[in-house]
This record gives sequence, structure tokens and C-alpha cells, in this order.
Amino acid sequence: MGETKKIVLPGEYIAGAEEVVPGENTYSENDEVYSSAFGEVRERERRVEVGWDKTRHIAQVKVGLELYCMVRKVSSTKAFLDCTPVADADKSGSAIEVSAVLPVTAIRNSYVRDMRDEVRTGDVIKARIAKIERSGVDVSVNAPDCGVMKAYCSACRAGMDLKNGSLICSNCGRKESRKMSSEYPSASA
Ligand SMILES: [Zn+2]
Repeated sequence: MGETKKIVLPGEYIAGAEEVVPGENTYSENDEVYSSAFGEVRERERRVEVGWDKTRHIAQVKVGLELYCMVRKVSSTKAFLDCTPVADADKSGSAIEVSAVLPVTAIRNSYVRDMRDEVRTGDVIKARIAKIERSGVDVSVNAPDCGVMKAYCSACRAGMDLKNGSLICSNCGRKESRKMSSEYPSASA
């Protein structure tokens, strides 16, 4: 598992039972090992356990923390994200990973009909932790600096440029919309 500190939620898959031996705060089911707690995955001599390295991370994962997130999956009401704290983003190897959910109600104050008009799979977004519960971490992008930082064309997957306030595919010219971050780099041309 290298240097990356993976944070898991109760019920989250850790590894196949042929790869590791379940230790503290884990259980095996159908030849797979899962976490039974919210914490950091640690592995020593093939034995995995879930817990906290008292000082390092527990204080870090808190409401308000800024994250950069990759959009893994989008439904009409939710986006599922893999996130790294902004403060860790420039440190290679030691960054922690947080799985989070962006609910459609945390895009802006007004009604949003469909999450898929706001973020798309593969986009990179900036968000803040809104809620930490046993069921998971919820984030919000309801702030001017939060939202999509890098968008990818849903037709051809090329990067999209921000030109005169519109997102335009650098490859096929398709125009799309997003909940944009004010920090999205503007194309000069
Ligand atoms: Zn395109």
C-alpha cells in the first residue's frame, strides 16, 4: 500500500483475502476484507488493521477542510469523489485520500435539477467538507472558489478551455456547462 494513507469507512472494501490477513477493525466476507470502522488502513506483514495514527490525520479530516477531488461517478442526485486535502496536494507520496459524496443540494442555494449538468465523471473539483458521519463524508461546492477546476469533454474526453465565460472543448469544440470554480484557469486565446 506504499506511503499513501487510505482512509476508509465502515463497510468499505480493503483488499482480497488472499492478499491480506484481517486485523483490528476489519472483517472478511466472500474472500474479501472490509473495514468495520472509520480510520486509516495500516498493513504490516500482510496483516491489515484500521485505526488512527493518533497525531497525524484525525485532526486534519474535519468540517471545512478544503479538498481537491476527482469525480468517480455521477448520478442525478449525487457525485462520488476521490479527494486529497489541498494542503497535501503538492506533497508527493504522503497525501491522504478521502472518499466523499457531493449531494445535489450542496451545489448552490437555488434548486439544481440534475447533478450531471454541474459536474461530470473525470472532472477535478475543489470542495469543502460539510459533514462527517459514520455513513460517510459529505462535501459542498457552494462557494465561489469551489466547483470544477478542470473539466473534460463528455464526448471526446479532451480538456475544456474557459473562453469568454464558456467552456469549450479544445478538441471537438463542444460547449458544456458546469458549476465552475472561480479558480478555473482562463484560456488567453
Ligand atoms: Zn470534445
